[in-house]
Amino acid sequence: MIKENIEKVRRRIEKVCEKIKVPAAKVTILAVTKGRQPLEIQECAKAGINLFGENRVQEALSKYPQIDGGRWQLVGHLQTNKVKPALRIFDLIHSVDSLRLAEEIDRQADKLGKIQDILLEVKTSLEPAKYGFAPQELEAAVAGVMKFKNLNLKGLMTVAPVVGDPQQARPFFRQLKNLRDQFDPGWLLSMGMSDDFEVAIEEGADIIRLGRIIFEKNV
Ligand SMILES: *Cc1c(COP(=O)(O)O)cnc(C)c1O
Repeated sequence: MIKENIEKVRRRIEKVCEKIKVPAAKVTILAVTKGRQPLEIQECAKAGINLFGENRVQEALSKYPQIDGGRWQLVGHLQTNKVKPALRIFDLIHSVDSLRLAEEIDRQADKLGKIQDILLEVKTSLEPAKYGFAPQELEAAVAGVMKFKNLNLKGLMTVAPVVGDPQQARPFFRQLKNLRDQFDPGWLLSMGMSDDFEVAIEEGADIIRLGRIIFEKNV
């Protein structure tokens, strides 16, 4: 099932990319593996996706040694007391949502002699439970992060609100792209999930984060 799901998703990505005239290879699929068993993750790797996203450091720590050749990225909120183990496994942290967290990542990365790739999470919608910088806070956040020599800021990430029709997610993706274009057109955009990845690609997504559509039936 996972293999078939991935084939279907790839076809859908190709179709959107054809429509907007960008190469399908521009879009990176991050398989979000929270709650999935090592066997499912291995099946995903066998089907050609070995880039995995986790929400929790603890869960990732227990799973990553069981998967050969995987690369891991963090997409969920990171607590400062989990930064140290997080730096050992994640090659990109999508969810940097405060300067305090950025500072701690910089501090721990310095100890490890690592330059940590990060994205800044942006709150493009007003749902109160969301993490991330408000758009108007971004300029100060970017300036702050630039001062940390062990951080490599690679772009922006957002989680769009859950909506009935994927078209309704478009304004949130567009806002992220506009912000990116204001700061650095070379930055990556991490946006789009199982229900709205096609709209996200149309709005310029570089990394789409897919969970259910890869691992579940009939999403
Ligand atoms: C779970 C999760 C995803 C994947 O969501 P699906 O709807 O299962 O594709 C993507 N990004 C984040 C931050 C997540 O927590």
